[in-house]
Amino acid sequence: MAHAVFQSSSLSCSSSLDLRETSAKASHIFGSQLRSREIERTQLRLMDSFKKNPTVRLKALVESPGQAQEIIDNKPKVAGATDEVSDHFKELKHRFLGFKKDKYLSNLEHYQRLSEAQAPKFMVIACADSRVCPSSILGFQPGDAFVVRNVANLVPPHDNGPTETNAALEFAVNSLEVENILVVGHSCCGGIKALMSLQDEVISSSFIRNWVVVAKPARLKTKSAASNLNFDQQCRHCEKESINRSLLNLLTYPWIEERVMRGTLSIHGGYYDFIDCTFEKWALDYKGSSLLANGECSIKNREFWA
Ligand SMILES: [Zn+2]
Repeated sequence: MAHAVFQSSSLSCSSSLDLRETSAKASHIFGSQLRSREIERTQLRLMDSFKKNPTVRLKALVESPGQAQEIIDNKPKVAGATDEVSDHFKELKHRFLGFKKDKYLSNLEHYQRLSEAQAPKFMVIACADSRVCPSSILGFQPGDAFVVRNVANLVPPHDNGPTETNAALEFAVNSLEVENILVVGHSCCGGIKALMSLQDEVISSSFIRNWVVVAKPARLKTKSAASNLNFDQQCRHCEKESINRSLLNLLTYPWIEERVMRGTLSIHGGYYDFIDCTFEKWALDYKGSSLLANGECSIKNREFWA
């Protein structure tokens, strides 16, 4: 579940299957109706421009960066969305060149070492939501954290089979030997809202449904523990419950459990509330046989950053 799926400007590249339906669903699920029509129009115009001039697009992909830039600079004069998109990329270009000048070239030795190898201390699993960039809120710099983002920051259990999330985990834990795994959830999570809205009896081909169902145990626990709360409050409850479920799911990977037992790997949960800008952080207290009778695990070192 690449985070691009939910970013309006990238939807046009993600799938050609019923683009309008997908974009409408995505903007609804993430609690935002804003600009859905505008997004659709932009996507369709982008696709049209690719269809009309595929040579330019393909050429830009195979030429060297300098040549590609020349192609972009000599773009066909099409008014409207193309210019808007171009403006977005001008801004990105400005930011990139700022990063290069202020960070990369100012710390050249550090970035040259990074170009040879990475040794991040953290593996972070965060939501794809555009408001929850772990590098922005926790200040990770290049080389600090190996990050995977998916809808609702979920970790599927080992037996569910391969996903890009557990592929990233395998690399971070077994090859990079990170010391910490941090699962970051957040307020107003559209993925959790989708999970809490599931109709049990409905069979759906929705990718979103078939992904968030991974966290169904968290939904069931929320429904039983917080049945007196209204739907929005239940969603807040489930946002944290699903983090704990993901932490337990991490232990279903033998190579993670073994490192946690040896004390070379720690598992942490985090919850970012972007309504009042607070961050809650806790760690799993697991020593092999310390799972509670109900299959839960105790936590330790809870902190609240406000
Ligand atoms: Zn989310």
